[in-house]
Amino acid sequence: MTYLAARHEDGRRPACDRDLVRSPSPFRPVIPARLAYAAHAVLARNRAYRRLAAAVERRPRLYRWFTAAERVTKEQLFGCRMCGQCALPATGYACPMTCPKQLRNGPCGGVSADGRCEVEPDRVCVWVVADERATTAGRAADLDLLQRPVDHRQWTRSSWVNYWQGRDEGLWVAFDADDPRPALVSS
Ligand code: SF4
Repeated sequence: MTYLAARHEDGRRPACDRDLVRSPSPFRPVIPARLAYAAHAVLARNRAYRRLAAAVERRPRLYRWFTAAERVTKEQLFGCRMCGQCALPATGYACPMTCPKQLRNGPCGGVSADGRCEVEPDRVCVWVVADERATTAGRAADLDLLQRPVDHRQWTRSSWVNYWQGRDEGLWVAFDADDPRPALVSS
């Protein structure tokens, strides 16, 4: 069920935005990894995007339209579930929130020898897909980064606005042997 079509069985609107979020199911992105990295370069944070994001946030109706456009686009391309804190640039553009266990730091122990998901064996594990894509794009080292726990207050918010506003800077950190327990805090 998509976010936009979501309704309770009796037709009532969901009580809160969180009710509108799709269930996680492993998703293979429909665009090549290299194209996704190239698109990110075009959308990389700069002063103009930051001003745009601030303007969008100041206008609730515009923010709703903008977020709906983001949802439709990223849902089709990446199976996005609108967690609002996008991990795609560090995962080969395979969305970790489509993992049925929503693991953001690699696969669980249940992935099969041929790379199948333990929960949905007819699908390939999201992290196998991430590894294939990141390796293809020469970004395999990204998968060594440590992802911060999900901030559940950000669900259904625009991750593009959050990114352009600089709220994503602490989403992941590099492992440091001298400091194996780094503070996973946003800047
Ligand atoms: S915003 Fe969250 S749910 Fe959407 S693609 Fe990025 S990581 Fe996945």
